[in-house]
Amino acid sequence: MEVEGHYAMLLGINSPWEISRVDLKLNQKQVDVDIEYTAGEGPCPECGSICPKHDDRKMRTWRHLDTMQFTTQLHCQLPRVRCDKHGVKTVEVPWAGKNSRFTLMFEGFAIRVLIAARSIEEARKLLGLNWHQVEAIKKRAVERGLQRRDENEIPYIGIDEKQFRSGHRYISSLVDLQGGRVLDVVEDRTEEACKSLISKALTARQQERVTAVALDMWKAYANAVNDKLPQADIVHDRFHISQHLNEAVDKVRRKENKALVEQGDGRLKGTKFQWLRNAENLPERFTESFVALRDSDLKVARAWAIKESFRYFWDYSYAGCANRYFDSWYSWAIRSRLDSIKEKARMIKSHLPNILTYFKHGISNAAAEGLNSKIQTVKSNARGYRSFEGFRNSILFYCGGLEMAP
Ligand SMILES: [Zn+2]
Repeated sequence: MEVEGHYAMLLGINSPWEISRVDLKLNQKQVDVDIEYTAGEGPCPECGSICPKHDDRKMRTWRHLDTMQFTTQLHCQLPRVRCDKHGVKTVEVPWAGKNSRFTLMFEGFAIRVLIAARSIEEARKLLGLNWHQVEAIKKRAVERGLQRRDENEIPYIGIDEKQFRSGHRYISSLVDLQGGRVLDVVEDRTEEACKSLISKALTARQQERVTAVALDMWKAYANAVNDKLPQADIVHDRFHISQHLNEAVDKVRRKENKALVEQGDGRLKGTKFQWLRNAENLPERFTESFVALRDSDLKVARAWAIKESFRYFWDYSYAGCANRYFDSWYSWAIRSRLDSIKEKARMIKSHLPNILTYFKHGISNAAAEGLNSKIQTVKSNARGYRSFEGFRNSILFYCGGLEMAP
């Protein structure tokens, strides 16, 4: 009985559960552990009162941590008890969660492997699981994590849209900017979607205590925030504003490149990313040619200069000074004779009050950049997701900062 006793200790199994047999199948590289329930009564899973045993269910199997390189499985016929209040119920087992085919120790290990591995596929192979099994473990892990999430104050949040799968399906995500974690995601990017996102991600108490929200200049989100979090300041952040200005520069370049190519001038070919980078991040091999383009009288050079000069806006410490800088920047942009630049400048001006809030709160979705690249990894890892729910689970599993261990 020594081996049985040893396994009982390893599994933390004690009376009335008993290990009746440990079968080592050398050829199949497998260890089978049979467990029996030895008492004639047991606790009702609903109310905990001790009730008489009714019958045994059919044999069930749980995968446990491997013993050396041997796959280890537990087998047991779970007893059902008859409760006066709740009827006939299956007794809960100490080694596994409800409806799981894996022991808690195995799930805890699988979660760590999934987080450490470079891809879900790699983890899946290491663990010897199929796709559905991995998804089920992740789902239970996220459920546990969400249940344990506390109600601490979350003063600064960011709400942002992301593309889900190819095409034009979007999701909205809500991020705790200081904690660097995704609190939840929902499908779509409408006002309704954003409202339900806020309700899902934050408790009523937490909603009341949000100080400021970083957002793109997107009406649907602003409306939802004004409605659900009326006390919070909106901060249209620098991350999105620089994206908008980059878009304008790129539009100017594309149009001008087309016109130049028609005249046999290929100067702007292949220069897209040089105009979109911050000047100091340009790789050295481009410096010389780019300086020549930048100092030319091309339209894109003018657009670029306007975009770059907007960056000084963020260096001010006080909203008043930043506001004055904006006025001079705006009159330059509006006289630029570049339609896409003018359009973005007007957009920024009309949102200015909620951009100047940056100087009070200093928040930006760029702070969540590390998180964004993590979400990106989940997305590229997630080609197989047919459903939004599977995708949400993965985001929360990898980016939710949850305590998921069983
Ligand atoms: Zn009961």
